[in-house]
Amino acid sequence: MIRIDGSKGEGGGQVLRSALALSMTTGQSFRIEKIRAGRKRPGLMRQHLTSVLAAREVCDGKVDGAEIGSTELTFHPGEIRGGDYKFAVGTAGGTGLVFQTIFPALLMADEPSTVKFEGGTHNPFCPPFDFLRDSFLRALKGANMHAEITLDRAGFYPAGGGAFSASIQPAAMDTPLDLTQRGDLIGVTGEARTANLPGGIAEREAKTMMAKLELDESAIAIRSVEASGPGNVLIMKVEFEALNEIYAGFGEHGTRAEKVAERVAKAIKRHLNSDAAVGPYLADQLLVPMALGAGGRFSMMRPSLHFETNVETIGQFLDVPIRYVEEQEGLWLVEVG
Ligand code: AMP
Repeated sequence: MIRIDGSKGEGGGQVLRSALALSMTTGQSFRIEKIRAGRKRPGLMRQHLTSVLAAREVCDGKVDGAEIGSTELTFHPGEIRGGDYKFAVGTAGGTGLVFQTIFPALLMADEPSTVKFEGGTHNPFCPPFDFLRDSFLRALKGANMHAEITLDRAGFYPAGGGAFSASIQPAAMDTPLDLTQRGDLIGVTGEARTANLPGGIAEREAKTMMAKLELDESAIAIRSVEASGPGNVLIMKVEFEALNEIYAGFGEHGTRAEKVAERVAKAIKRHLNSDAAVGPYLADQLLVPMALGAGGRFSMMRPSLHFETNVETIGQFLDVPIRYVEEQEGLWLVEVG
């Protein structure tokens, strides 16, 4: 039985989700304590509980402690089964994180799967739907891991009510990923979206972004989308030859639209000014699929706490070395396997 301290490193939901993904795919049971001890409201929230229940269902596993607020649980994996699934978070909690929990297992299933996810699709602190499709899954195609995802309806905090569908093909996972070079910049484009809010918000975000990054007016679309409640997201796609990075900003009460765009523009500039291929979020998220697959290499700006915590969690399940060294200031090379 692998014992995991949920308060280690980043101390959030990622430790639990990575442990679930690694347990399902390696067949090793684990016990985690102090779940999300580093967060304001520790323990399992709906989004984490949904990941636990989804993992249990996909691998016919057994779990003790799967309750809202629980700070300890034990997970015993069974056999992975592909098929048709539906997982509803029940709140605006991030569906992208539930997807990432079960994605590696479904790649290893004997048959293809279709999965419907319901809840939040564009939330702060979670990979937004566009990031999953255009950045995460686009990158993993290079490792021969494939899933098609389609957005059925956007879901924003706090109303939720969003949904997306995934179709996942079993994969040999035998191709090492190489994202050391990003290639030429193809372009920076984006969309400022609002749901049930004045369109002027999206216009102000687009205007600020165009000014900060010196983009043409045609680079950013302004869209009003259907959703259960109010919501606003500014999604920017930085497209390189080898991969895309998606940067998102979320409108919130008390934050001016200009500020939302300025923050995103700053993150994009930081990436463009470095030579790194992989952005800060994608870096931590690639580790589990790469370690379970054929490994590989990528360059990144610097290791985040999420990255370091994931390296540690992977080390508890797999005998796959993960090395990361600073090659030059602001450019790190990561080698998995
Ligand atoms: P945790 O905070 O432990 O629940 O983990 C959050 C996860 O969401 C990490 O894997 C982050 O890389 C990811 N994440 C947070 N914000 C974003 C974002 N804006 N775009 C993509 N991924 C994100």
